[in-house]
Amino acid sequence: MNVEVSGRMVAKVGRAPVIELRDVSKVHKTARQMIRAVCGANIRIEAGEFVSLLGPSGCGKSTLLGLVAGLDQPTSGTITFDGLQRSTSDRRVAVNFQEPALFPWRDTKRNVTIALENRGLGRAQVDAQAERALEAVGLSQFQNIYPSHLSGGMKQRVMLARLLAMNAPVMLMDEPFAALDAITREQMQDLVTRLYSARRFSIIFVTHSIEEALFASQRVIVMCARPGRIVHEVKLDEGYPRTFDWRLSDKVAALRRELHQLMRDLDAGGSGGEDARV
Ligand code: ADP
Ligand code: MG
Repeated sequence: MNVEVSGRMVAKVGRAPVIELRDVSKVHKTARQMIRAVCGANIRIEAGEFVSLLGPSGCGKSTLLGLVAGLDQPTSGTITFDGLQRSTSDRRVAVNFQEPALFPWRDTKRNVTIALENRGLGRAQVDAQAERALEAVGLSQFQNIYPSHLSGGMKQRVMLARLLAMNAPVMLMDEPFAALDAITREQMQDLVTRLYSARRFSIIFVTHSIEEALFASQRVIVMCARPGRIVHEVKLDEGYPRTFDWRLSDKVAALRRELHQLMRDLDAGGSGGEDARV
């Protein structure tokens, strides 16, 4: 399913803040142990930047995203938006998680409007924002369909519409396409980059796929595990849309090889033998 994306379909969002993480660490405490999930992360994300967090399972990507989302607090270090301490109720940030969290008893449209409830908006405005978001992801015809009748790709489109409907200038996405087949996944990457081009939100996109990180974002931040930390960064100056030929270009192939080798080396013990437990 191909979707034309125009600026009209994507609501005006306010300016995104510059997001800055300084020496951010997070230790998860459980009854039995303490896990250093993120260790000394320093990241600056400019307004309107599309950044991927790339790394293997368990390297702290979701933890880091949760900290930026304000769902959790760092153990040490600071997170600022435009230089001010990040407040937990900041509506400039919208977040989506890996599993499509759709309510089976709500149809597509009501699964989108749920993000707008309790915001003091009138029913007409809520409906209009949801309809515009559904149009942007190509689901206008499916507003009254229930999740059990949607494919995996369509469910992720509903999740994307829910994110868009919030009109937040910062969108955080945690491995949104990990469970999709290769072609659907490519279509979704295409859709996200076209939405991004139409209206420059900031996006922090978590993935464990080298290809996905390279194809979608402007900057790839590589993390590794035990303990979770940032080890490398790659900048991509290629604009959007990014063609299929570009994906197969020598430049991208070289970057893929470089990142692949790096991640293999890290996995083979480049982490210096440190343990995540503290
Ligand atoms: P990723 O998203 O890269 O797979 P996570 O941020 O989910 O990594 O996890 C990083 C580390 O922190 C893992 O060792 C994980 O088991 C641990 N962890 C994550 N969340 C919690 C939690 N709420 N309580 C305890 N440990 C956690
Ligand atoms: Mg995760």
